[in-house]
Amino acid sequence: MNKEEALEFYKAYNDKCNAYQLALLTMSFDMSTIAPIDGSEYRIQMMSILSGELFEYQTAKENIEKLTELSQMDLGEIMNKEIKLVLKNVNKIALLPKEFYMKMKQVYSQGEITWRKAKKENDYQLFKESLKEIVDITKQAYTYYGIKKSLYDDMLGDFETGMTIEKYEQFFDAIKQRLVPFIKKLNEKGTPIDDSLLHQHFEESKQAQVIDILKKYMGFNQNECYIGTSEHPFTEGFSLHDVRITTKYTEDSLTSSIFSTIHEYGHAIYMLHVDEKLEGLNVGRDMMNGMHESQSRFLENYIAKRKSFWINNFPKVKNIFYEQLKDVTLEQFFQMINVSKPSLIRTEADELTYPLHILIRYELEKEMVNGNVDFEHLDEIWADKYEQYLGIRPHDASVGILQDIHWSAGEFGYFPTYALGSAFGAQFLKTMMNDIDIDEQLEHNHFDIIEQWLREHIHCLGALYQADEIFDKVCHEPFNPNVYIDYLIDKYSKIYRL
Ligand SMILES: [Zn+2]
Repeated sequence: MNKEEALEFYKAYNDKCNAYQLALLTMSFDMSTIAPIDGSEYRIQMMSILSGELFEYQTAKENIEKLTELSQMDLGEIMNKEIKLVLKNVNKIALLPKEFYMKMKQVYSQGEITWRKAKKENDYQLFKESLKEIVDITKQAYTYYGIKKSLYDDMLGDFETGMTIEKYEQFFDAIKQRLVPFIKKLNEKGTPIDDSLLHQHFEESKQAQVIDILKKYMGFNQNECYIGTSEHPFTEGFSLHDVRITTKYTEDSLTSSIFSTIHEYGHAIYMLHVDEKLEGLNVGRDMMNGMHESQSRFLENYIAKRKSFWINNFPKVKNIFYEQLKDVTLEQFFQMINVSKPSLIRTEADELTYPLHILIRYELEKEMVNGNVDFEHLDEIWADKYEQYLGIRPHDASVGILQDIHWSAGEFGYFPTYALGSAFGAQFLKTMMNDIDIDEQLEHNHFDIIEQWLREHIHCLGALYQADEIFDKVCHEPFNPNVYIDYLIDKYSKIYRL
């Protein structure tokens, strides 16, 4: 093949894969949002036929041979990276024997069903055998892939390229040494903040009006982004000009829908701002989990929890919920949205205690993968760790070890990226502050200046670079977890007058 033929082949191959993927994604988004539940079984059967066809086409011998040939040619920087990425993914799935692949899918589906039942019945014993089986089959899959560094290292690298146990140990050590004692001190000596006014009754229809105000403020463009509702908020990218996010309204909380929508919007603009020349390519959409989370948590915590963000927005929110908020000042609102207290549920944790929830999961899953865990009593080990790090103990498995779906889907190595993303974000914030007076811009309704900075420095790159390369390019220094910890200690010392 010459270069022209190679590019022509790749375009046809990739377009066909994309067409299948777009169909599957649309069906799955529909299923998570508006499709009636009774249609699930039929839909899943039809989706699995389409997935099977895609799998066969992606991994067809002649296609892999051609991709391998392309990987030895010089097709320019972007296409070289694209082929490398695609070949890595395709080769990986092709390494699993079909029967094993089917078995694994079945263990995960069954695992999720068992997990849901166990969570509902608040009984870890119902899930423990299933969890053990999930860990075993996931480990077996990695044996087929060929273990490169160590089992858990490889898993970590699959969720954030370049991350290893060694790097995470440094990261979590810093959290243990500096943040754990700080949180303890804050709980003992901080000036308490009462946020009960944020937990009155807030009608859903009016909360939607608040979201409309924020959409306007953030320059939300409904021609390329859609907002729906779902049980668990999420974001799905369909193309560079079509991203969907969902939110969830909880009537006993004013801020839950606000911050979850802003979080998902952070994921959305990351996808919408990728450089046009990466349209349709894997390097235009396969951003790693830690980087993605750095962008969502950036908007949620580093922008939307600043006082300046609310200077013009809070009076409008107050107008909508006048009865509930008539006595609340901007300063009080700012304090209430930044309340920190140890809690049992990760997804509801505040910015300061959040990384400890992740630390606990990291320590447990590392032991699980390394085969050092007593599955029989894992729920108790979980509870012990909450007591050790957060000073509170879950007495129910449903708000303890059974609260998250990830392990039931065989996702080991995923959790750490949540804390890592927050830490990445803090360093991007520090860099942005050298260029922009963020508070000045937010106060004067110039959210677009913030967005533009993110677009130019980070979003436009898509998945062309891994995190350490982005740090070089954007921050001109390597990732340093202490920037994140400094930020948290500084912010919360002020809020709690320590
Ligand atoms: Zn997220």
